[in-house]
Amino acid sequence: MIIAEIKTFPLRIPFKPGPTSAASAWGPKGLHAVDTLLTRVTTDQGLEGWGESFGFTGLPVTRRAIDDVIAPMCVGQDPSQIVALMLDVQKKLHVFGRGGPLTHALSAVDIALWDIAGKAAGIPLHRPLGGGQADLPCYASLDAYGDPDLVRHAVRQAVDAGFAGVKLHEKQLPMISAGRAEAGPDVDLMVDVNCAWTVHQAIAKAEELLPLKLTWLEEPVWPPENYSGLAQVRRTGMPIAAGENVPTLLEFDRLLGAGAVTYVQPSPAKVGGVTELCKAFTLASVHNVPVMPHSFYDGPGLLAALHTVAVLGTADTMIEWRYFDLEAQIYGDHLALKSGRVDVPQGPGLGIDPDPDVISTYLNT
Ligand SMILES: [Mg+2]
Repeated sequence: MIIAEIKTFPLRIPFKPGPTSAASAWGPKGLHAVDTLLTRVTTDQGLEGWGESFGFTGLPVTRRAIDDVIAPMCVGQDPSQIVALMLDVQKKLHVFGRGGPLTHALSAVDIALWDIAGKAAGIPLHRPLGGGQADLPCYASLDAYGDPDLVRHAVRQAVDAGFAGVKLHEKQLPMISAGRAEAGPDVDLMVDVNCAWTVHQAIAKAEELLPLKLTWLEEPVWPPENYSGLAQVRRTGMPIAAGENVPTLLEFDRLLGAGAVTYVQPSPAKVGGVTELCKAFTLASVHNVPVMPHSFYDGPGLLAALHTVAVLGTADTMIEWRYFDLEAQIYGDHLALKSGRVDVPQGPGLGIDPDPDVISTYLNT
């Protein structure tokens, strides 16, 4: 069997109209839709595997990396030699960077190859990884609202839906306090500020937020590779999570060795797919740091996290569930929550393929 084709599918799925989405402040100002990049790998025997790269504004660059650089290296190769093929591509491309869009692109191909491996064997991906739990708890990863009332509205929806926790993407105390007030004291509350602050600012903010008893404060420091700065913030007593923008295993070792994080967050669609995500789990266990994967995805990136966590996660590992109210979901109704938990798909490979109608409707070429 050889890889016959690698094809990219950029999707743009709008938010549903509503009180929260109208005020969306996610990413570039005025964002009214979510950009996702799916990749399909097809073999000469007709097997199809699906992967995903981190989307949003970097999507056009990642797409070119797949279409123009990585696909020509992979077509004609044996799709069952995942680890060797991905290492070969990494080595050929290392002079162009060891993270960012090239690695996001590689992640999609890796996930798709694991999907194919499971389909070829007729078993779900978690089986060859080592077994797996049947269902997993999720936390709701919310949009950024910038308004206390909208935060309360979204938190209420998430709590009522049964999520084990709620993550805000807010930077100001009034919004974060509103989130805690609405969630109550017993719901895990996390805050992700996407590398907003200097170390000194982050220390002051962490001290300000300590009374709200956050489960973690995520990526408080700019730049993301300032691991000693993260460690300084953590010494305030605030639990710190980071790792979604850590590009390689060696960098994870530096992050963990610096004592920078309470939770580490490798991201399957950024770090190199299932192959690298599994290595990050192993490394984190050596440092005795729990993994909370970044899975801010609705497609194969999310499924890759599900299968891996099902095998390698611990009792307190939560799945990040992007709690956006979009017009359509990539898997339709085939991947749904029940009281804040998600069933790990049991079909071959990733277990579910993207809905072809969603792809044709929201394709954004
Ligand atoms: Mg984050």
